[in-house]
Amino acid sequence: MKTHEITDRWKSYFAKHGHEVVPSASLVSADPTVMFNIAGMVPFIPYLTGRQTPPYSRATSVQKCIRTLDIDEVGKTARHGTFFQMAGNFSFGDYFKEGAITFAWELLTTPVAAGGFGLDPDRLWVTVYLDDDEAAGIWHQKIGLPAERIQRLGMEDNYWHTGQPGPAGPDSEIFYDRGEKYGPGGGPAANDTRYIEIWNLVFMQYQRGEGSGDDFPILGELPKKNIDTGLGVERLAMILQGVENMYETDQVRPVLDAAAALSGRTYTSTEDKNDPAYADDVRMRVVADHVRSALMLISDGVAPSNEGRGYILRRLIRRAVRAMRLLGVEDACLPALLPASRDAMKGTYPEVEADFSRISRIAYAEEKAFLRTIASGTARLDEAVAASRAAGTPLSGQDAFTLHDTYGFPIDLTLEMAAEAGLSVDETGFRTLMAEQRDRARADARGKKSGGVDLSVYRDLMTDGGTTFTGYDELTTASRV
Ligand code: ATP
Ligand code: MG
Ligand code: MG
Ligand code: MG
Repeated sequence: MKTHEITDRWKSYFAKHGHEVVPSASLVSADPTVMFNIAGMVPFIPYLTGRQTPPYSRATSVQKCIRTLDIDEVGKTARHGTFFQMAGNFSFGDYFKEGAITFAWELLTTPVAAGGFGLDPDRLWVTVYLDDDEAAGIWHQKIGLPAERIQRLGMEDNYWHTGQPGPAGPDSEIFYDRGEKYGPGGGPAANDTRYIEIWNLVFMQYQRGEGSGDDFPILGELPKKNIDTGLGVERLAMILQGVENMYETDQVRPVLDAAAALSGRTYTSTEDKNDPAYADDVRMRVVADHVRSALMLISDGVAPSNEGRGYILRRLIRRAVRAMRLLGVEDACLPALLPASRDAMKGTYPEVEADFSRISRIAYAEEKAFLRTIASGTARLDEAVAASRAAGTPLSGQDAFTLHDTYGFPIDLTLEMAAEAGLSVDETGFRTLMAEQRDRARADARGKKSGGVDLSVYRDLMTDGGTTFTGYDELTTASRV
């Protein structure tokens, strides 16, 4: 089943059950202090908190999401993309646990011919919060799920709150067992590679009070309880398409194939770190993911820059270009890769085709600029290499820092090129200088924050990828490396 059909089926199922079908909001959050939409619920926050009255009591959407927090997982796990689509159904004071669980189970297990996704019920496992007997009871008694496939986990895995007084509640996650090939059994509590999380059902049940961390009092039940769910469309696609990971699904794989063709290397689909083909496979998966994210971000109006959203885009493009370079391609590669992504995505997002001349102009210019950076930094690097060789020392931390700071040379590029010249790099020295710079930038960011909007209500939610808070941290740490 193609990704587009999955999302169509999703929407028609929930429409049939009385949900208003709400189009995806832009990747760029409507809230200027939030970087990106990181979950399907973000556009519904005013309704979920009761700050605004929703015009409907049930809604469904397939929301475009960006999670930069997952960037280091990309290509290494089977299931983390920087861009992905989250399908969700929402109840605003309407149905609650039993409704949400029953919808999820029915849609997942109803045969394809009858409008569902046809998953084998015997492969589904769920987790619930420790004391959520109600949810466990529904899964067991109403749905008929065997008790051994219902696992109970604590706050960290199965509880939702915002870090502030307000709505809170347990959640229940649904996992698909990919089988013995992916490691030992024991359920999702034991193995998150074999049992892949596909759907999270959040039960906004309680009013919580003041507290710190996961320690806070429950003041009582919410007068109007809400449901917020999110299913990873690409994760379901990988299962329904019988492929190894989300980068091999129909909307992503064509870019991976284009990267393989361009580099003349073979993609082997391995997840085994000890396999000699692993490093190249990861690079191709990273390229496939990042090129798509860049396409979708530019389509939603983001342009490369040195801060905020633009820096995230810049970083994604640079990482893709770097990965291609490590695959042996030193010339511009986006003119071959971006159209592949456009063609894979245009069925769902016609705007990527309609707007492609603008999108590609921005992307290609950014790649060219980065290739120029590499070229000019290379001369500086060559000097530093010659000097270090003559002195018989590693390349100094100061050299690596200058290359980074002045020439925009990522440290991994310096490491790789120094290694080619037979030199090591004083990475500790480099990290020290970076940390000093980071502290300065942090102080600066704190200054900016104090004048901003108080978003602390959503601190926890946004730690998963989006506010200026994490954004600044990221800008001053990971993104500069
Ligand atoms: P995981 O534990 O696998 O990182 P999560 O618990 O962080 O997932 P949620 O925040 O519960 O994910 O998001 C709801 C759903 O969105 C998940 O069940 C998953 O199917 C999907 N999802 C989350 N993050 C990603 C991602 N980076 N790429 C693709 N799908 C994702
Ligand atoms: Mg996650
Ligand atoms: Mg999870
Ligand atoms: Mg989850």
